[in-house]
Amino acid sequence: MCGIVGYVGKERCTDILVDALRKLEYRGYDSAGIAVFEGDRIKTVKAKGKIDEGLVKKLPQATFSATCGIGHTRWATHGEPSDVNAHPIGNGRVCIVHNGIIENYREIKTFLTGKGYGFESETDTETVAKLLDYYYNGDPIEAITKAIEDIEGAYSLGIIFREHKNTVYAVRKDSPLIVGKGDGESYIASDVTAILERTRDYYCLERGEIAVLDKSGIRFTDTHGETVEKELLTATWDVESAQKGGYEHFMLKEINEQPDALRNTVSPRIKDGLPNFEECGLTAEKIRSYRQIFIVGCGSAMHSGMVGKYLIEDLARVPVVVDIASEFRYRNPLVSEGDLVVIISQSGETADTLEALKISKRKGAETLAVVNVVGSSIAREADMVIYTNAGPEISVCSTKAYAVQVAFMYLFAFEVAYALGKIDESECRRLVAGLEEVPQKIKECLEDVSPYQYVASKIFNAQSLMYIGRGLDNALSMEGSLKLKEISYIHSEAYAAGELKHGTISLIEEGTPVIAVATQSALFEKTLSNVRTVKSRGAKVVMICKESEQLDKECADFKIGLPASEDLFLPLISVVAMQLIAYYTAVQRGCDVDKPRNLAKSVTVE
Ligand code: GLU
Repeated sequence: MCGIVGYVGKERCTDILVDALRKLEYRGYDSAGIAVFEGDRIKTVKAKGKIDEGLVKKLPQATFSATCGIGHTRWATHGEPSDVNAHPIGNGRVCIVHNGIIENYREIKTFLTGKGYGFESETDTETVAKLLDYYYNGDPIEAITKAIEDIEGAYSLGIIFREHKNTVYAVRKDSPLIVGKGDGESYIASDVTAILERTRDYYCLERGEIAVLDKSGIRFTDTHGETVEKELLTATWDVESAQKGGYEHFMLKEINEQPDALRNTVSPRIKDGLPNFEECGLTAEKIRSYRQIFIVGCGSAMHSGMVGKYLIEDLARVPVVVDIASEFRYRNPLVSEGDLVVIISQSGETADTLEALKISKRKGAETLAVVNVVGSSIAREADMVIYTNAGPEISVCSTKAYAVQVAFMYLFAFEVAYALGKIDESECRRLVAGLEEVPQKIKECLEDVSPYQYVASKIFNAQSLMYIGRGLDNALSMEGSLKLKEISYIHSEAYAAGELKHGTISLIEEGTPVIAVATQSALFEKTLSNVRTVKSRGAKVVMICKESEQLDKECADFKIGLPASEDLFLPLISVVAMQLIAYYTAVQRGCDVDKPRNLAKSVTVE
């Protein structure tokens, strides 16, 4: 994980680097640092903690005039967050920033120790810095080529050599890196949002390519020093969307962006009122040929897969296996030729999910990636790609990216059911039209936030709480529960409402909050019985259900009413209620909503 930046140009670069790092802080914020060419030397400033709490406080004493440098904001994997473990890392000759994990760092360390090298930090990164120094003989490309032959694992690297003043080198394998092209200046960055304010033009660096940025511009070479021609891409995301746009937190902004995000995901895949995924190569014929469907992801993405399972099995009568990517990859999954594996990841860089994709391909299955970030590793590796078009999601806690994954699951389920003849054309049209109305219903839920604020005021002091629901409501509650614990640090569990009595109900005591999601008419009475059971044991119950449901005090202490809609779509609409309850609870508890502790946005490690 982590964010890397680099700049070569005419302007003083410290502020440019620090500004770009701030945009990447969602990727990790254990420490931050920069290294710049100052006179004949490389000067490094780095500090533990967030950029503005650590690095920026150290910078004013240093009055740099440098116009070239590299920067890093860290999410520690090897060695605690500390000043010495912060990047950039190196010695007077070579200095690097690194995103990822060097798996064979111990071996390299032993080798270099034998050659007389000493190590200051506990990081895996330092072994690469010293290895580059070891191989450096005046030619940076040669040193980089030799070093990457030796290292195993995932990395993107920004590198500067003291003897090659005002030049930045970059190379990557598995961790993302882009190279930005401005007017007389150039950049490297882990993510294009870091440089959007300065340029929209960028290249995607590929494995085995080395980028060289200097005053004369940008060139790419392969490891033999041969020039590589690359396509210049243009970012279409606006700068505004990468900033908070007046909201107190990115999370709140992103929750409010959901109606548009959903439209952007769904509309391009509807043709003449029917689902159409032909743009990515997923034809009805192909769908009919699949034996089984797997859906694999981590965290919220996996939860969207749970919703997909309920929908596809119910509407299309095809078995769907949902798996956690980190489990799937190590359990020799029963995937083979003739299967479809749907791989879900917001960033498209999630390490476990990427590996699950590679395994599926090796086993002969077809793979469909559902990702938000264009050109990401998963998108490039998969046979077919659906971009969810949610725009950049900056808050670590996923909201709109999850909602659009769920919206995709609805449309995908309709398509599979239609292709298999389980629903006819008019039914399919009716369902698609229903899905198209969801953004408007979500908008209605966002108009008055007082019910969510009220619930937050009742639960923010709780030690622990429970989410219960049945069917689709259960799948959605898993995400509601994850949101709450992720950002408010209150323990919570999502439980199938009917399963509670088989053990977990012993956790209910006087005052335990229970959030019951009961949007499905066919299951409403059943869930209500479970609610009565917990209420009679002292639980304080919040019911999320249709506005039209009449509830007495024995059922619920508080009701969150959802706008009228066909049952099938209510779970998707209820996502907003659960997100806002988590959000306002975290705010009341004074938590750092957009950057919850111990987490990072894009999990590019195992
Ligand atoms: N593995 C490196 C470290 O722990 C880099 C982690 C990152 O990507 O921030 O320092």
